[in-house]
Amino acid sequence: MIPFNKPYLTGKEGHYIYQAVLSGKISGDGVFTKKCHQWFEETYGFKKVLLTTSCTDALEMAALLIDIQPGDEVIMPSYTFVSTSNAFVLRGAKIVFAESRADHPGMDENSIEALITSKTKAIVPVHYAGVACDMDIIMDLAAKHNLFVVEDAAQAIDAYFTGKDGVKKPLGSIGHLAAFSFHETKNIMSGEGGLLAINDERFINRAEIIREKGTNRSAFFRGEVDKYNWVDLGSSFLPSDIIAAFLFAQLENLSEIQSRRKEVWNRYNLNLKPLEEKGKLKLPTLPSFASNNAHMFYILLPDLDTRTGLISHLKDKGVLSVFHYLSLHKSAFYEEKHDGRALLKSDYYTDTLLRLPLFFELSNEQVDMISNEISSFFN
Ligand SMILES: *Cc1c(COP(=O)(O)O)cnc(C)c1O
Repeated sequence: MIPFNKPYLTGKEGHYIYQAVLSGKISGDGVFTKKCHQWFEETYGFKKVLLTTSCTDALEMAALLIDIQPGDEVIMPSYTFVSTSNAFVLRGAKIVFAESRADHPGMDENSIEALITSKTKAIVPVHYAGVACDMDIIMDLAAKHNLFVVEDAAQAIDAYFTGKDGVKKPLGSIGHLAAFSFHETKNIMSGEGGLLAINDERFINRAEIIREKGTNRSAFFRGEVDKYNWVDLGSSFLPSDIIAAFLFAQLENLSEIQSRRKEVWNRYNLNLKPLEEKGKLKLPTLPSFASNNAHMFYILLPDLDTRTGLISHLKDKGVLSVFHYLSLHKSAFYEEKHDGRALLKSDYYTDTLLRLPLFFELSNEQVDMISNEISSFFN
């Protein structure tokens, strides 16, 4: 069976974990956590980063940082993972779901302004498949209406946005805050893991406090305060240094990992082109302002029945392909809280999007075999 995902080990993970253990300090913010922080700040120019135990936690920290209060409204796509939404609902926010783009599952930036009210506090763009949302439109709206922008960059490591000014910026460096995931299904992983990137300096001090159970422990260890005290809300959002040791081995191999993933992505895209030309399926499109980080290779089928048939055909041939999100506005938990607007494009991706296996060790022969099986399904 060809799995949908297979976590790739670079070979150094065990060695670094052993080093972390030998260092004698394996709780949070040890040697490897600092190495990871430095790597992100130097590689992507984020003002400040903090490793977290998951992207979900980083999003929850963001909701605390922007001080979401009951009744505040937060705009985000419906076609996303539950954590994007949960983090804000936990603080009492009302989620206002936006439509997806016609050419991409990411949120339709032009539909956002009509959703803004006097209660709107934040916009949460999700860079689906590592493909940038139009951050020029989103940041302009945020400035005009005095809103915060929290990027859900869970899938977006090594992905970029090129704005009107022609400058290519890493995703996660544009919003006030951004959250990344290192879950084992992401390009760079540590089993479970995440990162909060802080681009607005006003949030730095409080972020450290929130991450350390609401205490000023970080400042205390730097010798900046002489008492370690409970000063704010918080939780335990920091990972053990063992997780950071694993992650650092992956970060060191980012370019190797990324170049293989891109080869796989491009091979699928080339192999399946003839089927797109015959109108059997649609291949992913990238808006001109977005780069491709090869997080995901998906195809769009004409309808739900075709997708169900293709999934079972591939399964019979030993290939696991998987669909993705059920739109959150139709979820068991949120449907009755949703304001009732139809979100037809979001529903369209719910029904027709299919993800193909994509991982470092997937061979060219396997990509060709999977592509051929998709062709034979249509013939
Ligand atoms: C993976 C993912 C998350 C959650 O990441 P965890 O690290 O598992 O908490 C959130 N949002 C999106 C868009 C994701 O793809």
